[in-house]
Amino acid sequence: MTINTIEKNQTLEDMGLIKDGKIININPAKITEIVSEHVIDSQADLDKKLKKSQEAFLKWKKLPAPTRAQYLAKANIIFAERKEELSLILHRENGKPLEEARGEIQEIIDVFEFFIGEGRRMYGTTGQSEMPNKTIMTIKQPIGPAVFITAWNFPAAVPSWKAAPALICGNTFILKPSELAPLSGKLFVDVLNEAGLPEGVAQCAFGAGDVGEYLAKHELTKIVSITGSVAVGRHVAEIAANGFKKCALELGGKNSTIVLKDADLDLVEDGVLWGAYGTGGQRCTSTSRLIIEKSISSEVISRLEKRSKALYDETNNKCAINYAPIINKKQLEKIHRMVEEAIKEGAELVCGGKILDDGTHNGYFYAPTILKVKHGMKISTTEVFGPVLSVIEIDEKDKETALEKAMIIANDIEYGLSNSIFTKDVNLGMQAVHDFESGLVYLNAPTIGAECGGASQFGGWKNTGNGSRESGIAALETYTQYKTIAIDYSGKLQRAQID
Ligand code: NAD
Repeated sequence: MTINTIEKNQTLEDMGLIKDGKIININPAKITEIVSEHVIDSQADLDKKLKKSQEAFLKWKKLPAPTRAQYLAKANIIFAERKEELSLILHRENGKPLEEARGEIQEIIDVFEFFIGEGRRMYGTTGQSEMPNKTIMTIKQPIGPAVFITAWNFPAAVPSWKAAPALICGNTFILKPSELAPLSGKLFVDVLNEAGLPEGVAQCAFGAGDVGEYLAKHELTKIVSITGSVAVGRHVAEIAANGFKKCALELGGKNSTIVLKDADLDLVEDGVLWGAYGTGGQRCTSTSRLIIEKSISSEVISRLEKRSKALYDETNNKCAINYAPIINKKQLEKIHRMVEEAIKEGAELVCGGKILDDGTHNGYFYAPTILKVKHGMKISTTEVFGPVLSVIEIDEKDKETALEKAMIIANDIEYGLSNSIFTKDVNLGMQAVHDFESGLVYLNAPTIGAECGGASQFGGWKNTGNGSRESGIAALETYTQYKTIAIDYSGKLQRAQID
């Protein structure tokens, strides 16, 4: 089995990050700084939490949805009041630039605002009965305790994508945040409890993959929502399927931006730079492949190279404050290994390709990297989850054929999360939007930056997920089951399809 539970446990222990039954969380931009410590839950602790979740569910589900919304509204006031404090903690915990951390906390507020409104909607449907004096309607009802297993790259916002719809629909939850960044998730749950949520409605559990697995398998767990890698997601999906649990999978990505020769190159430069290197390339939606027409490729590459190099100060071994570190040494080394292997396989290194700081000076930083590659090389099809952009050139006589070829490459991948195209040709732009095989698609914008405050239905196709969506209205599907109610007021037996 290729899951990394055990491997991760060992690694954390090897690195001294699990000690005396505690997770020790350090700032990856300043590794001497311990950000938080959390006691790892034992199975007995988890049993207690699940029992509490089940008991709380029986009461929480009975509250009218507008009343549940009032709790979320109270929590949102606290999130807004504590935005700066939570952003600073997130910035230290995960290392992402403060500006990005502020954006992430704002996302919680936006998501909550959206789902608070849902407390007064949550519409069902009415059907047309085939018989007189009979009404048929379908309502949505909660399912039961949910378990959220999350990744470290958006440790504050992603729990809110899951919690807000789960709670408004009447479910309770236990969040198992990533062992690499558990504090923001804990604080998220603390705020909900500070807002007065009944005991047991929102809880947190700490540990690595084995804790997630125990929670997912438990008979009291009725919904499992996981954000993480494809390998772990597949394993969790098997567990959920075995227990007939609702399961939402938000997994990895390998996202492409296509650039046609008529594109606004200033916009391309800004967009690709942000898409590839925002959050240090550690977003599931990060731009990992640039598929570009050959006639403009040299110019775009040289502009990107210049801007990439400006993100860090090599002489003084310092990184600009707006460039994120890599989460840990293991991941830093993995990224570097992937780049080295790509070069061995024939990729041409344009810039970067080196560890800027392996922790010796202050943190774990990798130089923003550009590689010229051929489609089919390992680096062009595997998720790197770091600041590495693979450029693939398309050499065709016209834009139409170039788009056709680019689209084949963009879609020839196991993932289906986010893709984008830059062009001024509205017809070609719209054809691309239609033909990309991914859950998120952008026209004249990078692959990152989904508006998760309700407008987007966030999620992926293919191996990126199983059709579930987060942060938009479709998220309600994960946390509800339908009940069809037939009311016969004819006063006699009416037999469907017979009378
Ligand atoms: P990961 O799969 O290693 O871990 C994710 C979570 O799963 C962690 O909390 C971990 O403890 C837990 N876990 C590990 N093994 C488990 C098991 N056997 N059973 C239950 N839980 C287990 O991923 P990561 O390194 O934390 O995050 C990076 C990955 O997440 C990337 O692939 C990235 O693309 C993806 N991601 C996806 C989205 C999305 O919305 N699609 C968002 C953010 C990150």
